[in-house]
Amino acid sequence: MSFEGMKHPFDFTIETGYVCNLNCLMCARRYHNVQDVKDEWDIEKFKYVVNNLSFANFMQIGGNQEVLCYKHFREAYDYFGKIGMPTCFTTNGVALKEPYDYLPYNSGIFVSIDGGTEEDYKRIRGYSLDAVLGNLVNIMKKRPDIGIALHSILFKDNIPGLYNLVDFCNKYSIGIRFLYPIFFTKDIEQKYSPFIEGDINPEIVRLNDYCKRTNTKYALSSVGISPRGCGVPFQSGAIGKNGDEYTCCWLYTVRDNISKDWKVHYRGTEITVPQEQYKMGNIFEEPFLDMWNSPKYVHLRKTLNEINQDWIKRGRYVKNPEDEFLKLLDKYDPNEEHSFCKICLQRWCRIAY
Ligand code: SF4
Ligand code: SF4
Repeated sequence: MSFEGMKHPFDFTIETGYVCNLNCLMCARRYHNVQDVKDEWDIEKFKYVVNNLSFANFMQIGGNQEVLCYKHFREAYDYFGKIGMPTCFTTNGVALKEPYDYLPYNSGIFVSIDGGTEEDYKRIRGYSLDAVLGNLVNIMKKRPDIGIALHSILFKDNIPGLYNLVDFCNKYSIGIRFLYPIFFTKDIEQKYSPFIEGDINPEIVRLNDYCKRTNTKYALSSVGISPRGCGVPFQSGAIGKNGDEYTCCWLYTVRDNISKDWKVHYRGTEITVPQEQYKMGNIFEEPFLDMWNSPKYVHLRKTLNEINQDWIKRGRYVKNPEDEFLKLLDKYDPNEEHSFCKICLQRWCRIAY
């Protein structure tokens, strides 16, 4: 079935709190002042939301939190097991310690590791890379039923060190996915952005070539871009800690403190992200399927349909996606409902998914 024919999204990410055991330099929690918020959903609230979404094919806990710090982690994942809901989760790996009886059988874990040397990792995440890699080696030995893959964000200065992570992945036959950061302030963008004039940073191209040459299982979405659209609002949903429902994970990064919009910084330009246009409702106020059929959700899917059709029709492969992005940015009006998708597809979506 096509995405457009779907009666509801396939998967959901649920954010049960903001608690984390790290304070990484690029984390949305820092910029929106939620890193000290300690209250989390109780297990009844968690079950209420899961039951509301019981039609889904897949669910996970995630968002601006370290899942293993959620005080009801074990009960929550037991509940997924009890109702037969397939799941996985993303973790920073710090708390992946024995005994592993809290980890769901036969599931998958994505581990976020953004520095390939002890020094880079400490600078970005403030912890020890060796300790996290040691946790992973142990878990691979003792829980072979659990699939592991790495996620690494590309910054200006961490790319040379990431070759070590590629070698680690090859040694243990696991995959790695490279992602790009979202910059909430101009200063952070200037300091850490891997983007350069002319679109693709040659260091990233070299890393890509190395992965290819070494037959690594990897994904690096800005290199080798092909015509594409976005299926996210058809495929996924994300419930924030306050119950707000968003269609795409990176747009829902900063809910509670944002009522209307926020800014993202890219190559020295400040871009308005109309957060409010992408909030589809609140799960504590109405059932998800009512939101799904609301005019706002329908409008978003219709907009995406039109954009996707246009991409297919025009085979919109461009030699320099960057020029195309800047052209679209000139025409972008943040007050026009869901028009942010047009620039997101050309820049943020293609690098974030
Ligand atoms: S591990 Fe994740 S949630 Fe925790 S501080 Fe780092 S980026 Fe934020
Ligand atoms: S194009 Fe971007 S903003 Fe629009 S739905 Fe897809 S991921 Fe979300």
